[in-house]
Amino acid sequence: MSSYEAVIGLEVHAQLSTESKMFCACSTSAGSPPNTNICPVCTGQPGTLPVVNRRAIEMAIKAGLALGCKIERRSIFARKNYFYPDLPKGYQISQYEFPLCLGGGVTISTEGGKKTISLIRIHLEEDAGKLLHDYGHPDMSHVDFNRCGVPLIEIVSGPDMRSPKEAGDYLRTLRNVLVYLDVCEGNLQEGNFRCDANVSIRPVGRKEFGTRTEMKNLNSFKAVERSIAYEIERQTKVLESGGTVSQETRLWNDVAGRTESMRSKEEAHDYRYFPDPDLLPLIVEEDWIARTRSGLPELAGAKAERFVSNYEIPRADALVLTDDRALADYFEAVIASGAPARKAANWITAELMREIKDDERGIAACPIAPANLAGLIKLIEEGKISGKIGKDVFEMMFKTGRAAAEIVAELGVEQISDSSAIESAVDKIIAENPKQVEQYRGGKTAVLAYFVGQVMKATKGQANPQMLNDILKKKLET
Ligand code: ADP
Ligand code: MG
Ligand code: ZN
Repeated sequence: MSSYEAVIGLEVHAQLSTESKMFCACSTSAGSPPNTNICPVCTGQPGTLPVVNRRAIEMAIKAGLALGCKIERRSIFARKNYFYPDLPKGYQISQYEFPLCLGGGVTISTEGGKKTISLIRIHLEEDAGKLLHDYGHPDMSHVDFNRCGVPLIEIVSGPDMRSPKEAGDYLRTLRNVLVYLDVCEGNLQEGNFRCDANVSIRPVGRKEFGTRTEMKNLNSFKAVERSIAYEIERQTKVLESGGTVSQETRLWNDVAGRTESMRSKEEAHDYRYFPDPDLLPLIVEEDWIARTRSGLPELAGAKAERFVSNYEIPRADALVLTDDRALADYFEAVIASGAPARKAANWITAELMREIKDDERGIAACPIAPANLAGLIKLIEEGKISGKIGKDVFEMMFKTGRAAAEIVAELGVEQISDSSAIESAVDKIIAENPKQVEQYRGGKTAVLAYFVGQVMKATKGQANPQMLNDILKKKLET
């Protein structure tokens, strides 16, 4: 058993979903050819001046309010100076001493109950460009400035998490809030939601923190959790063998499943921060904050309560459905297409979630359109197909994305609810089994199950079970 405890703090860079960049009018579109969304401002040409994007500020305020931060009336943009080929200005505009948002927190559920992970700050900054190493001539690297100046918020947590699981839960909850607010797309793989993990360990019971390492290159929730677990183990081995952990930045190698030393940790003073002389202090009026607060959309918790009271679904289902805004929207779209709420909740939380549970894209990976799921549920409700066949049809819908009625017609699995068709099947089985008929009429009513089985076999399981039962009993008892 390890006598060490892990201490984890996360820094998240979330790309704000604005159309234009932080300080110029260039598009933020990610799919454009290299260096087509650039201008003199975001490439740092002499004599140009940055102009703040109001929408970006508003999105940052929204995030701050939803996360319980204090919105600072006055914040300052600073220059963070460093040289890198993807940074044409030679500095990144960020907020340093005076960020836009202070405090706040993210509440997660743990085995021991709810736990709030504190936030230290949320500040605004601009993104850097991208180096392309597998583009064009194999001996050359290229640089794409399209991402230069794209607005980001950096959300810095307190060192409050104690396990990889808590870190993952914090990150998922935070992502959900930002996605609900429509301020960030929240996609780790595509890099519009990025996380650096700070990890240290300390002997259980000790107050002071140990030396931390910072991990980068975490492209999935799984990578975040795995890298932290790896790092805890690595640091434990270092300490147990009498060594010391050095403060450094490490890269997560997802294929090898380990962290690798990248560089010794830089300090704030290395960046020679100073207030950007081209930008005025950012003053946020009180009534702008108030208006933004009253315009906040319904967040996960409130949505779950509404689902319970409006749709009368179990709270456990409501929590699962609202955990992801896209899933909640999907659920409501299925209902809007005419499915009863409880049935819709059932199909989604059981069948659908099982199909997509290993896919980080979530409900976006589901090929079944909401109207088609509603269609399937209606076929079962109306007795056109049995619930059992419904599950098979569902699997095929998931594989092909086709409508339920189409698959049912093609497979010919429509439930037989035509009494004359069931009657003739029953007549045939009764005629073929005189011995069992005698047994039944002699009081051995348990053979009814045998007849049900035979008729079901003859109708490929498609006879409406209730009708079959009624008809069988009637015929056997007369
Ligand atoms: P930097 O930019 O130098 O990494 P920040 O203040 O932006 O510094 O971020 C520090 C992050 O590291 C925070 O999330 C904080 O909670 C976390 N952190 C600080 N000290 C420790 C520690 N000893 N162990 C683990 N995490 C830590
Ligand atoms: Mg850092
Ligand atoms: Zn530009």
